[in-house]
Amino acid sequence: MTDAALAPPPPVSGEVAVQITGMNKWYGQFHVLRDIDLTVTKGERIVICGPSGSGKSTLIRCINRLEEHQSGQIVVDGTELTSNLKNVDKVRSEVGMVFQHFNLFPHLTVLENCTLAPIWVRKVPKREAEETAMHFLHKVRIPEQAHKYPGQLSGGQQQRVAIARSLCMRPKIMLFDEPTSALDPEMIKEVLDTMIELARDGMTMLCVTHEMGFAQAVANRVIFMDQGQIVEQNTPREFFNNPRSERSKLFLSQIL
Ligand code: ADP
Ligand code: MG
Repeated sequence: MTDAALAPPPPVSGEVAVQITGMNKWYGQFHVLRDIDLTVTKGERIVICGPSGSGKSTLIRCINRLEEHQSGQIVVDGTELTSNLKNVDKVRSEVGMVFQHFNLFPHLTVLENCTLAPIWVRKVPKREAEETAMHFLHKVRIPEQAHKYPGQLSGGQQQRVAIARSLCMRPKIMLFDEPTSALDPEMIKEVLDTMIELARDGMTMLCVTHEMGFAQAVANRVIFMDQGQIVEQNTPREFFNNPRSERSKLFLSQIL
């Protein structure tokens, strides 16, 4: 594993970051998420895995209301997600999200990508936004790329810009949806190392990934989903060495 993985992650406090209770979601007639109960405490690093189509993306997209749930409750840092747009805005301002495809603005430089939302949404003065952006570009180890355009960067570098851009909004929680699955193999490590550092800084993280080395190094909990349900959750060690359900055993036999 990576050097960064050797240091133990910080301990997990008891304060609740995300509380999901009895949550269900349908796409039309299709019951995509079933009776989801999940409590995430601050500083937790959760890896969500499971077969394609099991509802992993939908679940984390519900946490910042990119998708609406139809029953049950989702409370993020004390704010319940309802149709009240004020609440939705508040939650979105606290939750960062990084996707498989980096979704950078191609016509803006790396620095401009990182300062756009802080300046226009947070009303941060331009200079301050640029200082913050440079801080996080250092953090993801690409300050020298600040004045380039996304198209001039490798996939791994672009994904690190996407992470820096999220961090510029000072999120309390970070969601990752298969952040390395569109990358060439040699670029996966640099993105995972960035995520490992973020975990060591104490960030609350929910990561959909099949990078099981990452899960073992960083996650304090692995959640296994199948057919819209949380089927199993455990420490990485227990989950990988001693999966309990037939479905998780089958899944692990296919990916490991
Ligand atoms: P995963 O991320 O685990 O691969 P998703 O959350 O993307 O799974 O999808 C779960 C299920 O919901 C899949 O069967 C998928 O086809 C379906 N689905 C996803 N998005 C939509 C949508 N916008 N409309 C209808 N069905 C969808
Ligand atoms: Mg998905």
